[in-house]
Amino acid sequence: CGIVGYIGQREAYPIIIKGLHRLEYRGYDSAGIALLDKELKVYKKAGKVSNLEDFVKDVSVKGTVGMGHTRWATHGAPSDRNSHPHTSGDRKLTIIHNGIIENYSVIKEALLSKGHVFKSDTDTEVLIHLVEDIQNETGLDVEEAVRIALNRVIGAYAIVIMSQDDPDLLIAARKGSPLVIGVGKGEYFIASDATPIVEYTKNVIYLNDNEIAYIRREDLLIKNIDNTIQVPYIQKLELQL
Ligand code: GLU
Repeated sequence: CGIVGYIGQREAYPIIIKGLHRLEYRGYDSAGIALLDKELKVYKKAGKVSNLEDFVKDVSVKGTVGMGHTRWATHGAPSDRNSHPHTSGDRKLTIIHNGIIENYSVIKEALLSKGHVFKSDTDTEVLIHLVEDIQNETGLDVEEAVRIALNRVIGAYAIVIMSQDDPDLLIAARKGSPLVIGVGKGEYFIASDATPIVEYTKNVIYLNDNEIAYIRREDLLIKNIDNTIQVPYIQKLELQL
């Protein structure tokens, strides 16, 4: 339902939580966050964003790379375990997702027969296990594995993926669900609409369907899922808060 991501010099947690609050108007049933600070940390809870804030009170929320999600359940009841982010079997990869992976059950069957163990009932978790599986089979890096995985997926999505093996990277992609990238100085923001971004930057890129953005602090590369490089079109936001 709602997506917020950050990579830059600042602490990601406060930016992400504030952004999730700004997206609350969309309605949601659960909230979660992933942060990368040497290791990957994932915290998620059914209920309000404020529940999540209470839940992380006594843990470290450090990290300058991170992402947060508010969920509107489509596959799997609203619960802590079905909340996003979801992680791969080896817990190195993590994903947040808006939308529906229509062919998740076919992919899940194949992955189950290869020994994958799932921790939730969601369509979303299947996609991150698929990326892991492609990496294991091919030895490809996460950037290419995500692109290949998305070519096997039918459905609508806006996603953000982080990998512990490449901690200075956010991968964002969309098909049928909106995703906006805010362009700052040495920092980037991602969100499902511009409301979490406007207070930091007015320069935004609206990702097009079938595009994947590879976002690093000082570098942004956008590719189509067929692997052609796209020229990003930076727009000025008129929106005021
Ligand atoms: N289909 C996913 C789920 O049920 C994502 C739902 C959403 O857009 O929040 O977890």
